[in-house]
Amino acid sequence: YGDPSQKIDYVFKVVLIGDSAVGKSQILARFARNEFSLDSKATIGVEFQTRTIVIEHKSVKAQIWDTAGQERYRAVTSAYYRGAVGAMLVYDITKRQTFDHVPRWLEELRGHADKNIVIILIGNKSDLENQRAVPTEDAKEFAQKEGLFFLETSALESTNVETAFLTVLTEIFNFVN
Ligand code: GDP
Ligand code: MG
Repeated sequence: YGDPSQKIDYVFKVVLIGDSAVGKSQILARFARNEFSLDSKATIGVEFQTRTIVIEHKSVKAQIWDTAGQERYRAVTSAYYRGAVGAMLVYDITKRQTFDHVPRWLEELRGHADKNIVIILIGNKSDLENQRAVPTEDAKEFAQKEGLFFLETSALESTNVETAFLTVLTEIFNFVN
């Protein structure tokens, strides 16, 4: 996962937001270290993880911030959003409430972040299709209306996690170039 001695052309801060237990930390673990844990403890302490990828022959260091269990409404501070150029707004496809809270998260994000921030809506736990509570079409429609990218992912099965990050990072890259 990247040669540590390589020179860095860009550093992009991306924040993970969304209700507790939707899989934010596991999505990050999958992307940054290719790891997954089924009994992940609530996130404590760790502010961000990084992974460097190459886009159009430039090295882009993604600095991905994870909420330290601050998912209660309005508990995420403005320092968390400061300087973010990308955001991944995550819900759990098996928990309707986590999708119903998406507009709140979006409002909070838009209140704190740069107006050009690139946002992707992520329906995680797509491996639990038999417990699905949020139809893909509902989320797709919402994302379209709000101008967000949208993907369903599974951190467990490693489905679309890489694509989700690459979508955000490439869009940011194109914007600054
Ligand atoms: P966070 O509070 O949003 O950071 O959520 P976590 O990453 O801690 O995940 C909460 C729980 O959901 C943990 O038990 C994870 O193992 C589980 N989980 C996370 N992603 C997935 C997934 O894609 N599929 C399944 N089946 N479980 C997941
Ligand atoms: Mg967490």
